[in-house]
This record gives sequence, structure tokens and C-alpha cells, in this order.
Amino acid sequence: MRPGDFDTSGTGTGDGTRAVRAGLPEPVKHEPTLPGPVFAAHFHLPGEPTGPYTYGRDENPTWTHLERAIGELEAPGEDGAETLAFASGMAAISAVLFSQLRAGDTVVLPADGYQVLPLVREQLTAYGIEVRTAPTGNDAQLGVLDGAKLLWIETPSNPGLDVCDLRRIVEAAHAQGTLVAVDNTLATPLGQRPLELGADFSVASGTKMLTGHGDLLLGYVVSRDAGLMASVRRWRKIVGAIPGPMEAWLAHRSLATLQLRADRQTANALALAEALRVRPEVSGLRYPGLPDDPSHKIAAQQMRRFGCVVSFSLPTRAHADRFLKALRIVDDATSFGGVRSTAERRGRWGGDAVPEGFIRFSAGAEDSQDLVADVLRALDESAP
Ligand SMILES: *Cc1c(COP(=O)(O)O)cnc(C)c1O
Repeated sequence: MRPGDFDTSGTGTGDGTRAVRAGLPEPVKHEPTLPGPVFAAHFHLPGEPTGPYTYGRDENPTWTHLERAIGELEAPGEDGAETLAFASGMAAISAVLFSQLRAGDTVVLPADGYQVLPLVREQLTAYGIEVRTAPTGNDAQLGVLDGAKLLWIETPSNPGLDVCDLRRIVEAAHAQGTLVAVDNTLATPLGQRPLELGADFSVASGTKMLTGHGDLLLGYVVSRDAGLMASVRRWRKIVGAIPGPMEAWLAHRSLATLQLRADRQTANALALAEALRVRPEVSGLRYPGLPDDPSHKIAAQQMRRFGCVVSFSLPTRAHADRFLKALRIVDDATSFGGVRSTAERRGRWGGDAVPEGFIRFSAGAEDSQDLVADVLRALDESAP
């Protein structure tokens, strides 16, 4: 039995069942199981302009279904949690940061988080918000938390795959009145449920493993605090960072296979990590699911699946480029979490503090033996 196979939510429902049924409306005779996308800029609205559906930037029935679905996965069995869908992960992240922080506030960001965070930092600073950073590993963000209004956590971090102890950090943050938001992109709600671990917000890009097909961008924010969510909702209305109905519907359709994809991709990532660890040209191998990985102990306490991303370094940039070129069933592409494996030399973007030969590998849903064989062959062929 794997960790994800048992129910820890108290709802009497496993992850697979929850994923295939998430957000579905009550059955209505002759209606589809999952209603199709509603394309509407406005809705019939005679008289008083009251909800639920008035104007397309405020609400859309297709979002409502998707938001319920994500809420059921992030906070199973809880009626009090509220979810808002956004146009992208960055739209969701910006919505939390810019709706909660004011000039004079302090925010703590991870020093090793998603590569757009340094740009966010510049913008926050321009608005008069003090930004402190510390690495994810060893719970180092605790060291710079004093007096902060909001703590932003990314665990596992992307692309370094460090993990911090969410329960411990949340406890310290709440003791001094600091709000905690967790970027749950890499883990997905089937890998980790930040609200159960105490966080005030779980925020993610739905572009990655949540939807898993590399065909749409999406983001979301979940919280149990209605007051906090009212300000996030207001921000979404102001900036209009809303998902299209087609994207929202595709995302909901894709959620049905989340457990199947997450289990296969997690198993493939582990198989890959085990194959890579004995290769002499590979250094700095990281995968939180490897029992001797520095992240494993804490990851095992708070995660139920360890994700599909494996990172490692080859000796040089040229070696890494040869390796990527030699792969046959793995696309050289950015992003991660899709059913088709991707890998990239992360240093090509600048921004991440990684060695030139650093590879971020996202395991897809191919047959394990085919994927491992392709990687080992590409390593053999790319040897100097
Ligand atoms: C991709 C990613 C984001 C941004 O999501 P988009 O959907 O591309 O806007 C944020 N955080 C993490 C950890 C990511 O991997």
C-alpha cells in the first residue's frame, strides 16, 4: 500500500474516488455529468443586479464547478473552505500578495522559489513593502520572520526540491500573527494539503500536474478564512485575471485523472531517481521520495505523494545539452507535471542559482521501463 491509497481526510473517500467525482453537480435527468463550458460575458439580469451570475469577470458557472472540485481536493470534507480560480498560477500568487500587503508591511519569500518571484519582489519593493528572503531548506525562513505580515512558502521548492516543515513554521508564524501562504504547485492537493497543515492559503499553478496535459494555464487560491478570500476575490475583479471558460472546463475534465497521473508519474520519478543515483556522471541528485534524500524525512511527514520532478546535474553545460538532445521520448521543454516527460537545462533561463549542467526532469506517464531506458541510453550517448 502506498501513502496515497488510504483516506486521511475523514470523509471515507479515497483520492481516486474524490478526483473522479470532484465538483460534479447533483445528477439531473438528461443533463451531462460535467456540464460543458459556459461562454458568457453577461447573463440575463432583469431588476436588482444580484448574483450568482451577473457579469463574466465576476462569476461563471464553469468556474463554480471547477472551484468546488479544487476545494474538495485541497480541503476534503470541509464546507468552510473557499476556492477562487485564476488565469494562471502567477495571477493567483499576485492576487494573494497584492491583496494582503500594504506599504510598510513586511513579507518573507523563499530565496529559492519559482523564477518569477524576484520580479514580484521588485514590484512589491516599488510599492513600499519590505521583502525578506531565506532558503526553503532547514526551515531557514523562520530566521527572518520577525514582524512579517505574510510568509510565502514553496515546498518542495522549484527547482531545488528542498522541503520545509510546514507544521513547525506555521506554528511559529501564527504565534506572532503572521499569515502563511503555501505554493502547492509541485505537490498538487493529492500530494500535500497545506490547509490541514495549518496554512492560511494554499495557492497553486494549475498549469502543471494538477491539469497535466500541458495545454492550458490556470491558477487557484484556497482558504478557510472568508474575510481573506473576500479581499482576494476583490483583487480578481479589479485586475480581471480570470480563467477562460474553456480552460476552466478542460481543467475540471483533467482533474478526473489526477490520481492516476500522479501515481504513475510519482512512480516514474522514483524509478528514474533510483536509476540516476548509481550513475557516476550524475551529481546533486534530488528527489524527496528517495529515502536518503535530505528532504525525505520531513516530506514523508507532510506529503502523501512526492511529485514528478527530479533534479540533478551533469558535469558541464555541453554534457547536459548532449543528454537532452539524445533523449527520444522526453521533450526538451520547460514547465513540469505533464503526462509527457519533459526535461530542460534550467540554467538557460538565468534566475535560478543552479550549476550550468543542472537538469530539471519532469517524469510523465510513460511506461517506467521505457522512460528509464531512454534516459540511461541518452546518458551513455552523451558521455564525452
Ligand atoms: C509554474 C509555477 C508557477 C507559475 O504558474 P503559471 O501558471 O505559469 O503562472 C508558480 N509557482 C510554481 C512553483 C510553479 O512551478
